[in-house]
Amino acid sequence: MQSYEVVPLRAFADNYIWTIRDAGHAAVVDPGDAQPVLDYLQREKLELVAILNTHHHADHVGGNAALLARTAVPVFGPHDERIPEVTVRLADGQRFVMPHFNIDMETLEIPGHTRSHIAFHGGGMLFCGDTLFAAGCGRLFEGTPRQMHDSLTRLSRLDDATRVYCGHEYTLANLRFARAAEPDNPRLPELEARMQALRASDRPTLPSTIGQEKATNPFLRVTEPAIIHSASTRAAKKLTDPVSVLAQIRDWKNSF
Ligand SMILES: [Zn+2]
Repeated sequence: MQSYEVVPLRAFADNYIWTIRDAGHAAVVDPGDAQPVLDYLQREKLELVAILNTHHHADHVGGNAALLARTAVPVFGPHDERIPEVTVRLADGQRFVMPHFNIDMETLEIPGHTRSHIAFHGGGMLFCGDTLFAAGCGRLFEGTPRQMHDSLTRLSRLDDATRVYCGHEYTLANLRFARAAEPDNPRLPELEARMQALRASDRPTLPSTIGQEKATNPFLRVTEPAIIHSASTRAAKKLTDPVSVLAQIRDWKNSF
């Protein structure tokens, strides 16, 4: 029986620091800012037991040092020296147990947004940082379209019911783009209406699920004729392979 819940703490303009908690303890994913975490721990009388980092960007790791100054806890993260606070460096396929919560977690290397980006998968949850967003994917700062395609394909093979905890609240902007890229997808208007209602009452649109993403996320649908057609029109030539389609729509999204 699940004895914990997952709570989003807001940071900066649109980051979420996902917090796994029970009555007395908490683990945080990507604490870009320590203050919202410290405030929450104090208010809820929780003891921090672990930090998880998906990638090195400051808005995901910037709070590590201040949290560790208060409580020395294990920090799980990628093999990347740009996150000096990591104490348990994880490679692809490596398993670990989330302290206190005893959740069996698996590491997935998912390069594309950055070269060393990882995801944490376990307990029916996926913490995927800035690689997979609801109806979108991360920008390609250090990786290639092929890497992003391979990473997203891997994530899409997880169980449909897997809850997807992304690093940012980007869903509405992503859905506007998804509608432009795949105008006839009947799931998109219905999903957009539900997500708009959530945002109108200041609630998060996350977590998503892998099943929802497979049905609505253009970056997971690069073999769909409608997406291939949109990308080809945009490129003014017939695109035939999924990596080229992904590269084209990622580029289009950047200027959307
Ligand atoms: Zn990032």
